[in-house]
Amino acid sequence: MSEAEKVNFDESGLVPVVAQDAATGDVLTLAYANREAVETTLSSGEAHYYSRSRDELWRKGATSGNTQRVVEVRLDCDGDALLYRVNPEGPACHTGEKTCFFTVLSDEAVEGKGEIGFGEMVERLAATLADRHRDMPEESYTAELLGRGTDRVAQKVGEEAVEVVISALRDDRLAEETADLVYHLLVLLEERGVGIGDVAKVLHDRHR
Ligand SMILES: [Zn+2]
Repeated sequence: MSEAEKVNFDESGLVPVVAQDAATGDVLTLAYANREAVETTLSSGEAHYYSRSRDELWRKGATSGNTQRVVEVRLDCDGDALLYRVNPEGPACHTGEKTCFFTVLSDEAVEGKGEIGFGEMVERLAATLADRHRDMPEESYTAELLGRGTDRVAQKVGEEAVEVVISALRDDRLAEETADLVYHLLVLLEERGVGIGDVAKVLHDRHR
């Protein structure tokens, strides 16, 4: 039995597929697949979908070059939706955006709550630090720190680590001091050219 037998295709023979960046967790696209697309994805390791507008099997990136290497295919609880966890080669969206979900409708509703996860915050911060490193704007503390080289950045990480220790022992301002340490640690990673994805991979391998 082909693994695709487990999928409950709808009356048109299609199943919705969410494509997710396996490294960052970003949701990239919602698309559809038919049986052939699912089977071809499973056998080739390249994301295949079904184009409803063109009415044909479609290998992601066939024309754009923005292919998606599939790391894992998951079936949802009642078998009627799929998750492709992928390593994207270039942007997922035809507009050139990394993800199709670049339009935020809920900005105000989400603001107020301030519930942004640690992982996402680290990613945003790392992206900002990479921008500063590239542009090196004069007024930027990050750029100034990066300009002073590895020794200075590493020393700052050491100082901030000590402040975290002191703060923990005094039971005071631990979140603030930890934030300072994480920031400086990310600057050090940026300065050394080590991506947060590299660190995540080590953690993930150990966590298995
Ligand atoms: Zn799109």
